[in-house]
Amino acid sequence: MEPGLEEVSNPDVLVVGGGPAGCAIAIGCAQLGLKVVLIESKPFPRTHPGETLHPGVEPLLKQLGVFEPVLAAGFLRHKGNWVQWEAGSEFVPFGEDDSGAWLGFQAWRADFDAILLNQARGLGVEIIQPCHASSLVMDGCRVIGVETSQGTFRAAKIIDAAGDHHWLAQQLGLQIQYHSPRLIAYYGYVTGECPVRDHAPAIAADFCGWTWTAKVRLQLYQWTRLSFVDEKIPKDWLPDEFQGLKIYQPMRAANVTWRIVSQPAGYGYFLVGDAAMVLDPASSHGVLKAIMSGIWVSHAIAWELLGNLTEQQAIDQYCLWIHNWFRHDVKNLSSLIAKLPNPPFWI
Ligand SMILES: Cc1cc2nc3c(=O)[nH]c(=O)nc-3n(C[C@H](O)[C@H](O)[C@H](O)COP(=O)(O)OP(=O)(O)OC[C@H]3O[C@@H](n4cnc5c(N)ncnc54)[C@H](O)[C@@H]3O)c2cc1C
Repeated sequence: MEPGLEEVSNPDVLVVGGGPAGCAIAIGCAQLGLKVVLIESKPFPRTHPGETLHPGVEPLLKQLGVFEPVLAAGFLRHKGNWVQWEAGSEFVPFGEDDSGAWLGFQAWRADFDAILLNQARGLGVEIIQPCHASSLVMDGCRVIGVETSQGTFRAAKIIDAAGDHHWLAQQLGLQIQYHSPRLIAYYGYVTGECPVRDHAPAIAADFCGWTWTAKVRLQLYQWTRLSFVDEKIPKDWLPDEFQGLKIYQPMRAANVTWRIVSQPAGYGYFLVGDAAMVLDPASSHGVLKAIMSGIWVSHAIAWELLGNLTEQQAIDQYCLWIHNWFRHDVKNLSSLIAKLPNPPFWI
């Protein structure tokens, strides 16, 4: 602890990370009357990839009480995606019902994550930001607290919602199970006009992998490239349709190797969102999974603290749920990749 910092308030739940997973669990716990502290290392607004949300996110946003502010934010909406996988390009709509076509969101993450964090704050969650979690406080094999740049916190439950670097798993030395070779996704943003991409995102397969392109804001487009061969991508690489547009954010890389933490819950802790499991963005549900895992765990914690569930039952049920979900997604993603023109050997 830095000199001058003291041990601070002890909540029921301490959440590390203010992305969709951390906010969802903080909101869920606060809605159920628990005392929550959320620490986030970066000041908001902060940029983050992962804008495209399937319409299936709507009921979750309603449950968290953020559907109206998300609508009011005016994010771009789309009716489906262009898919060029085995053969020619075809438009795949999300579907429709009596009220019309189902619409996805291009939720600009700086704004979307700020909406979620504001909702948590409004429900009484104590947000400490910027505040960096450095190490765990243990009592035997139980996680009981976190040392941070703003002091030491103790809580009945510690939540790792700090994203894909598996902070808590690394601290505890938990096993991470890999289900693909190392996969690196490259991504970037360009500004200008690309009318062909204005109405819906597209995913296009080629001999080496796939490329995703989407309009994410007015005059702003995003691309992601995943290659299954050792492809050297020049720093100024752009998908063909974005040639001539101006680079807004230089190319970045993310480790999207398919992986899951063997024990995503244990004595005193839960891992939610990317902290628990990661798949490459072709699975396209990272934010939805982050929110759903956060909501699930908020209910498990409330039930456990009310005495309706033992700690061991909560741990076992969550681990089973996360592993089943991951296995299901791996199966679907594998059969999608098997249909590529040149599928990788490990599929
Ligand atoms: C290129 C790319 C494209 C993607 N596209 C999509 C998409 O279109 N749709 C989709 O649904 N998903 C997409 N994803 C996946 C999506 O980005 C993630 O699944 C999602 O952001 C996970 O949310 P999270 O809350 O678990 O973690 P994050 O959103 O990563 O949030 C973690 C938070 O924890 C904070 N933090 C980290 N360490 C600490 C610490 N030590 N102390 C305190 N705070 C800390 C971080 O600052 C961050 O704010 C994409 C991913 C990539 C790499």
